[in-house]
Amino acid sequence: MIHTAKYEADLHCHTTESDGVCTPAQVVRQAWEVGLKAVAITDHDTISGWSEAEKAGKQYHITVLKGIEINTDWEGREVHILGYALNANDDNLATRLSELREKRVQRIKKMIGKLSQCGVDIAFEDVLKHAEGDSIGRPHIAQALIEKKVVDNVHIAFDKYLKIGRPAYVPRNKLDPAEAIRIIRDAGGVAVVAHPGSFCTAQEISQWVKVGLQGIEVFHPENSADDRWRLTKIAKQNGLIITGGSDYHGHSVKPGINLGDWGVGMNVIKEIEQRSSIFFQQKD
Ligand SMILES: [Zn+2]
Ligand SMILES: [Zn+2]
Repeated sequence: MIHTAKYEADLHCHTTESDGVCTPAQVVRQAWEVGLKAVAITDHDTISGWSEAEKAGKQYHITVLKGIEINTDWEGREVHILGYALNANDDNLATRLSELREKRVQRIKKMIGKLSQCGVDIAFEDVLKHAEGDSIGRPHIAQALIEKKVVDNVHIAFDKYLKIGRPAYVPRNKLDPAEAIRIIRDAGGVAVVAHPGSFCTAQEISQWVKVGLQGIEVFHPENSADDRWRLTKIAKQNGLIITGGSDYHGHSVKPGINLGDWGVGMNVIKEIEQRSSIFFQQKD
């Protein structure tokens, strides 16, 4: 079932290197199939999908933008920070990301312990095998629960056990948005607040601009038309890049979201390139 991309560039995609269902090469191939000219690989806390994706980008003649998504906590809410066009060879970036991933592993182990208190026994290995890449997360616990026939689908797994307020929920190790912005900027990347929806105020965003934020993800399935209007205004007031992407994970994780459903024009890639300290690989 091939559909056609609605935009030229989809700047938010997950692969098997974090919690997506397609490998980096498969995502790039699909991007080509739907007619995208550019795709950004933005796995959670890892850059391990970049080289495979770039190779595929050369093969299919589409631009692959090196990206990342870092989850942070802000006053009881989750704020996700996207990074684009970072330096792949920055040792400090690799170290800081591996620390974040280690914290993820500890959190998953605690959640497995809580599940066991609810009478649901799964082993860490049951979860790990669903995380083909190195960035383990709650969706992988959900997949283990489905496999063990504890629940029928990911949605029920979150509703019953895994989401905030449910018995197996464990809060993440707190990371401030400013720290994530710093990690990205230190590696030469462009920092963008992901899908703020209606949760981030203009004041909060301008506060993050002061510590290095350079863009807002305006075009995203979770931003309503009202949100897009409001966020566009905030972006213009602060001189920020307006980005967009589908947050593609694959249909078994996020049903109904196709690659290229959300995105931006190729001009945004140019804007990102201009603001990045690193010149990233172009298709030709
Ligand atoms: Zn996100
Ligand atoms: Zn995402």
